[in-house]
Amino acid sequence: MEHQSSTQIPHVLIFPVPLQGHVGPLLDLAELLCLAYFKITFLHTTHNHQWLTKHTDIEARFSRYPGFKYKTVPDGLPDAHPRTDPLRLSELFKGLASSAKPLLRDILVGDKVTCLILDEWLSFAYEIASEVQVPVMAFSTSGACFTWILHCIPKLVEAGDIPFKDEEMDKLVKNAPGMDSFLRYRDLPSFCRKLDTSSCRKLQHRFSGEIQLIKQAHSFILNTFEDLEGPCLSLIREHCSKVYSIGPLHAHLDYKLGTKEKTLSNTNNFLEVDQSCISWLDHKPDKSVVYVSFGSLAILTKDQLTEFWVGLVQSNKYFLWVIRPDLVIKSDLNSPITQDYLLDGTKKRGCIVKWAPQKEVLAHRAVGGFFTHCGWNSILESIVTGVPMLCWPYFTDQLINSRYVSYIWKIGLDMKDTCDRTRVKNMINDLMERKHDKLETSMSIMSHLTNKSISEGGSSYTNLDHLIEEIKAFIKKEPTF
Ligand code: UDP
Repeated sequence: MEHQSSTQIPHVLIFPVPLQGHVGPLLDLAELLCLAYFKITFLHTTHNHQWLTKHTDIEARFSRYPGFKYKTVPDGLPDAHPRTDPLRLSELFKGLASSAKPLLRDILVGDKVTCLILDEWLSFAYEIASEVQVPVMAFSTSGACFTWILHCIPKLVEAGDIPFKDEEMDKLVKNAPGMDSFLRYRDLPSFCRKLDTSSCRKLQHRFSGEIQLIKQAHSFILNTFEDLEGPCLSLIREHCSKVYSIGPLHAHLDYKLGTKEKTLSNTNNFLEVDQSCISWLDHKPDKSVVYVSFGSLAILTKDQLTEFWVGLVQSNKYFLWVIRPDLVIKSDLNSPITQDYLLDGTKKRGCIVKWAPQKEVLAHRAVGGFFTHCGWNSILESIVTGVPMLCWPYFTDQLINSRYVSYIWKIGLDMKDTCDRTRVKNMINDLMERKHDKLETSMSIMSHLTNKSISEGGSSYTNLDHLIEEIKAFIKKEPTF
C-alpha cells in the first residue's frame, strides 16, 4: 500500500436506502471494499446513524480501516415520523430526495469521489452523479428474480397480464420470459395487485423509468450468486451491460475476514439485540426450534398475530419469535392477548424477543426451521446456515421470493396469502417433521454451492475481484473538476 499515492486509491461513496435490509448488505460491501484498501464514505441518514450507534458498536467495526468514514444527511422527515411504516415508505423516499440532493452534489465533487455505489431505489441521485460525471454502480438488495420481474412489468401491463382479477390468482403469468411455466399472478410483487387501468399506467411508467436508470448505470451489482439465480441473471445481462453477482455478501465478508473476526461483521442493527435467546437455545435439543421473524418492516393485525400464535402453540414445537415493538398495528393492541393456554404454551415452549441476533440464531444447532416473511437477506442467511424455511411473504419482492424458495429451489414451503391457525400448525409440522428431511437435503446442496461461490475461485469471489478492478480503472478516467 505504501507505494500507492492517495490519488491512486479509489474513493467510493456508498448510499443505501435508510432501511435495515438495505444498510446491512451495503455495510458488508463497504467492508469488503475496505479490505481492498479503498477509501469508503458511507452516506447515512442522521436518524439511522443515531440508531445504529445507539445499538451496535459500529464505530469499532470500521475503526481498523483508516480509509472508512460516515457522512450523514437529514432524511427530511420530522423526528416522530414512523420511518419504517411499510405503508408510508414513499414519504421516506420523497423526504430523502429533497434534503439529500444538494449535499450529495457537494460530497461527490468536494470529496473527489471515484464512483457512487447507489441503492437502485434512490433514483434522484443518478441525475446528480451524471451532472458531475461520477460513474454510478447500481446496487440491488433484492434477488435477481425480483429485478427481472420488475424489468417485465411494463410489458406485462402492455400485454394485459396486469391488471388481473382476484379469481385469476392461481393462473400462470403468460408474458414473463423465463418464469412463464411456474409464476402465478399470486407471486407477482404486491404492488401489482388490485390495480385499475390508470394505476396500471402509473406502474408501467414508473418501472420503465426505474429500468432506464438501472440500464444507464455503469454496472449493476446484486447480492446473489450464479448457482442460485443463474437463469435470471442471464436474462438481466441481456439488458444491462455489466452485472456483478457477488453475494451472499455477509458470508462473503466472513470468508474474507476469516473465523477470528466474524462477530464484528454482525454489527448493523437498528434495534437492540436481545442475546438472551442464545442461552435459551443452548438448552434445547438439536433442530427442535422454529425461529420466527418477519423482518424489520412487516406489520400484522392483532388477528393475524393471534392466528400465528395459536398455530405455533398448537404445533407443540419450541419456538423463538421476534416480536418487534412495532410489529402489530398499534390501534389493535388496546386489548392484549390474554388467553391462558397461549400464555402457558409460550412459557413452556416459547421465547419472545424484540430483536434477535438473527445470523447467530440461524447458525445455532437447536434451530431446525425458519418461519420467515421471505425478505431477501433472511433467505440468504437461511441458505448460508442450511435452515429450511416456511414462508409467509408480506409485500413487494417477498411474494416472488417465496415462489422461488418453494417451487424452484425446493428449500422451503410457501403459505402465502393465508395464516389461519390450522394451516400454521400443519405447515410448521411439515417444516419440522413431515417434509423436513427432503427440504434439508435440497438446502444442504444449496448451502454447499453458496460456500463454493464465495470461496477463492468461486463465481461471487471472482466477480468481486472484477468489480474491484473495474472501480480501480475509473481512477485513470477521472474527470478534472
Ligand atoms: N434481523 C435481525 N434480527 C431480527 C430480525 C431481523 O438481525 O430479529 C435482520 C436479518 O438478519 C436481516 C434483516 O434484519 O439481515 C432483515 O432483512 P430482510 O431482507 O430479511 O427483511 P426486511 O427487514 O428488509 O423486510
